[in-house]
Amino acid sequence: MFELTGKVALITGGNGGIGLGMARGLARAGATVVLAARDTAKSALAVQGLTADGLKADAIETDVTDEGRVALLFQELMARHGRLDIVVNNAGTNIRKPAHDLSLDEWRNVMDTNLTSTFLCCRAGRALMREAGGGKMINIGSMLSIFGAPYAPAYGASKGGVVQLTRSLATAWAADHIQVNAVLPGWIDTDLTRNARGQVPGLHDRVLARTPAGRWGVPADLAGIAVFLASSASDFITGTAIPVDGGYSIA
Ligand code: NDP
Repeated sequence: MFELTGKVALITGGNGGIGLGMARGLARAGATVVLAARDTAKSALAVQGLTADGLKADAIETDVTDEGRVALLFQELMARHGRLDIVVNNAGTNIRKPAHDLSLDEWRNVMDTNLTSTFLCCRAGRALMREAGGGKMINIGSMLSIFGAPYAPAYGASKGGVVQLTRSLATAWAADHIQVNAVLPGWIDTDLTRNARGQVPGLHDRVLARTPAGRWGVPADLAGIAVFLASSASDFITGTAIPVDGGYSIA
């Protein structure tokens, strides 16, 4: 039911953090994983790490905020691998400022990286999946898809948007056998949150105190949900937003 052998999965921002944690899970379940990000050295290292463990991995340089580059990414993926079964929209960024200090360029940068990229990659993926008879899309939201935070106006808007976009796409494409779901990670130890812990005093301890599981998450905590939502085990599940947060959102 969770077997992914023969499937090809695209993971944006898959060269580190949560994206790499999910890529590793998908590859362990048998998929060939294609990591799409800007930093080619970091991507090469990630591919090396996966292949050293006997997993099937490739990388394609891309900037997901650029419509033309996204089109080339899908073309290149098809040229190299011949099929696309799973798209994970994970590339993301944050600029920590209250709205009154945020410039329009900063707003656009966060919205383009987190939300518009998800639209672009889902749209491109849908064309290929529809032709092939179906597929799976997994969009990465956040606890800020649910909660507000004074320092994250664009991030929160983009991640709330990811959930609503997911619901729209799920309803539109269910008849094409394409399931579209969102995952809402809690506080996971990655480069992104390491920066946040540097910038926001007391954050580390506040997260620990508020998380029922009593720990920060690690990228490997996202592997299981990725495999579930990418496999036939979830064929009747679409349009959901599933927290993977050690209980943070219900405490
Ligand atoms: P990281 O900073 O470790 O990873 C972000 C990834 O996105 C990198 O691989 C980066 O690669 C890629 N990326 C950023 N901008 C672009 C771009 N324009 N084009 C292509 N790739 C891009 O962060 P996380 O692993 O923590 O975050 C992954 C996702 O999970 C994000 O969407 C984030 O919002 C979300 N999330 C994280 C949480 C956490 O606690 N860590 C909690 C909730 C959600 P490169 O620089 O090479 O392009």
